[in-house]
Amino acid sequence: MGSNELAEALLASGDTPLGQAAKRRALAKSITLLESSLQTDRSQADALISRILPSTGKSLRIGISGVPGVGKSTFIEVLGLYLITKGHKLAVLAVDPSSTVSGGSILGDKTRMERLSVSPHAFIRPSPSKGTLGGVAEKTRETILLCEAAGYDVVIVETVGVGQSETTVSLMTDLFVLMQLPNAGDDLQAIKKGVMELADLVLINKSDLDPNAATRAQAQIISAMRLYGFHSNPTKNHSHAAHPSLPSLHKDGALRELEKEAEPLKVMQLSALQEKGIEAFWNCVLSHKQARDKSGQWLEKRRLQALSGMWERVDEELKRSFKEFPSVKLLLPGILSAVSKGTLAPSVAARQLLHAYKGAI
Ligand code: GDP
Repeated sequence: MGSNELAEALLASGDTPLGQAAKRRALAKSITLLESSLQTDRSQADALISRILPSTGKSLRIGISGVPGVGKSTFIEVLGLYLITKGHKLAVLAVDPSSTVSGGSILGDKTRMERLSVSPHAFIRPSPSKGTLGGVAEKTRETILLCEAAGYDVVIVETVGVGQSETTVSLMTDLFVLMQLPNAGDDLQAIKKGVMELADLVLINKSDLDPNAATRAQAQIISAMRLYGFHSNPTKNHSHAAHPSLPSLHKDGALRELEKEAEPLKVMQLSALQEKGIEAFWNCVLSHKQARDKSGQWLEKRRLQALSGMWERVDEELKRSFKEFPSVKLLLPGILSAVSKGTLAPSVAARQLLHAYKGAI
């Protein structure tokens, strides 16, 4: 199938079971196309993405993170089944850096979400297993667009707390949810400050195991967040966030400023296993969206994320091709060794490399 046929199949309006099945096949094929490393496939994938772009953007994009065993797949499954009963269509994507390194994956075993995976209203896709985290992020961003074009109105991107994956996922979703175990509050050192900073919502799962511990954890996380000062200053002026001048809008730029303006961080209890807290979670998501829609932050965040995604790819690709550039490649081993030994200053080394590059182009 070429990009035109794929686009037509994705955008087809038919909501019959047969039409749905054809859409899912087209979606799977489209994702395979954009994961291909062949140049001709990449051109087709670019044409496809450009074609469907006007039909994208209408979903709620939710990032969910937590250590293995915290209950992510149990939660996503019950949430997904709940949302389907409310008439939603759900796509579940994964960003799993372990799968790009080892080929195996923390998230990706096939027995997960058995009930959800057989629903015609759900689409579940494991993490791409090739490429750098940046490459995986780009493909996941594009996959979100494909899912939206195919009519999925809730997209969940799941990740584990490995390396930069949480930041990566928070940069492509509207709302970032961190799942915690009830005992995490006893040891706040266990909570990574940087990850908390990304979260819009913290869910303390398995509250059925020890309700008192869950309540304690909830109170401790809330007070720790106040101490750290996250999401605690809703009146702060953020006029410059609306007019970002930074070329690269990563989390430390305008996006972070925008986040600080958001509502206070919510901490909720959950028992995914007993299916308790699902509706409260969803209501919280909806009220969060409503508040941000009203203030304009919802669209502003999307806008900043789109720019950030573009610059991230440019940065990564430029760096890669810089290192491959013949005159740079020639100098690199000597310079790396001199900087490692401390006989050449990093700043001087960087200038020498840039000079070798600029002088040759
Ligand atoms: P993931 O690795 O984060 O996707 O975690 P899973 O969803 O696979 O859950 C890990 C284990 O915790 C499984 O045995 C689940 O049945 C269990 N589990 C998940 N949620 C709950 C919960 O709310 N309460 C209890 N008691 N167990 C849970």
